[in-house]
Amino acid sequence: MGRKIPDLVLVLCIFSAAVAADYVRPQPRKTLDFPWERKPSSYPQQVHISLAGDRYMRISWVTDGKSSPSYVEYGTSPGRYDSTAQGESTSYSYLFYSSGKIHHTVIGPLEGNTVYFYRCGGEGPEFQLRTPRAEFPVAFAVAGDLGQTGWTKSTLDHVDQCKYDVYLLPGDLSYADYIQHRWDTFGELVQPLASARPWMVTQGNHEDESIPLIKDGFQSYNARWKMPYEESGSSSNLYYSFEVAGIHVIMLGSYTDYDEYSEQYNWLKADLSKVDRSKTPWLIVLTHVPWYNSNYAHQGEGDGMMQTMEPLLYAAGVDIVFAGHVHAYERSKRVNSGNPDPCGAVHITIGDGGNREGLAHSYKYPQPEWSVFREASFGHGELEVVNSSHAFWSWHRNDDDEPVRSDQLWITSLKSSGCLTQKQHSLRKILMAP
Ligand code: FE
Ligand code: ZN
Repeated sequence: MGRKIPDLVLVLCIFSAAVAADYVRPQPRKTLDFPWERKPSSYPQQVHISLAGDRYMRISWVTDGKSSPSYVEYGTSPGRYDSTAQGESTSYSYLFYSSGKIHHTVIGPLEGNTVYFYRCGGEGPEFQLRTPRAEFPVAFAVAGDLGQTGWTKSTLDHVDQCKYDVYLLPGDLSYADYIQHRWDTFGELVQPLASARPWMVTQGNHEDESIPLIKDGFQSYNARWKMPYEESGSSSNLYYSFEVAGIHVIMLGSYTDYDEYSEQYNWLKADLSKVDRSKTPWLIVLTHVPWYNSNYAHQGEGDGMMQTMEPLLYAAGVDIVFAGHVHAYERSKRVNSGNPDPCGAVHITIGDGGNREGLAHSYKYPQPEWSVFREASFGHGELEVVNSSHAFWSWHRNDDDEPVRSDQLWITSLKSSGCLTQKQHSLRKILMAP
């Protein structure tokens, strides 16, 4: 009897200490070990899908066998394929490494919000995908800087639990960092998710892998993660755009020229001039290096690109800009030119996917006026675009269960706020400039 009270007190003390003490986050994790197993030469590996123009989807996979065919059979009932599409293939070598055969096959036209069953090159298991809806609502999952660690696994598990239509990845995918087989293990790690929903990506510095005088950059990335750049009038896989329901999404390249005379800048102007806000009221941009960042990590790296491109995005009325690179989460107010502005974009840094470099903990103080929420934790975001005027943004920490939101916000579109009418004149001026 005498021991009962001290025990209870002890338990209470430990409990309150645990709650009061600062949570110490675990150390960055090492890249996962992937057991190697030989597959039949035509066996499809690293299957992932991406949007490829209105009602079309690109199926990408790798085979060890160089003579494996690049066709995809598909249909809306399991095991019954009433359509077949022929694709193309590529491969590359990198120092002592030779890639498998990398296949890209576009299927469609497809119905919206429909499950399709498909098989790659007539071999291996059946996969299934769901197309996004043709109209609102549409849900995006967002996390950059993924890598392939235990933390990545945790992020993917959380993303898998959320109901999303399209995954948006603002750069830094595999952290292969010149070790080419890590591109293969990354492809295998993400396949369960990326074969089922379109994964739309843009490049980060970890995709570069150039070697001066020997290798150009982005060779592996471009070969493996082909995005709909041709479909969007771009001449480079490093920047492109696509539309899903009422949302126009622009993927910019932080590591390709962006000055006013660059191809990217001119493509961006052309792309923006085609956006019809009565058809796509929402305008979203992704790029790797954040323009609004109050973390000491990568401080100021986005300044050059911001100086050139922010006036254009502001004039066009971009609603949200997602970035990665800084391994943490930060959300801004609507901003422009460094200051809160109701007609500017909400900037969200979400480089918190879980790579081997770990988190960026050090923030500048005082917190800038534009910065609303910032935290160095791994996690992912969800953007549910409900209709032409409202979207719900939430950020989910990996330390919590998926239903727990660490940060959340209703975002009203600029289209519904009246900002776009004011902007028309300045956008026209910039677009008309030679
Ligand atoms: Fe990174
Ligand atoms: Zn980066």
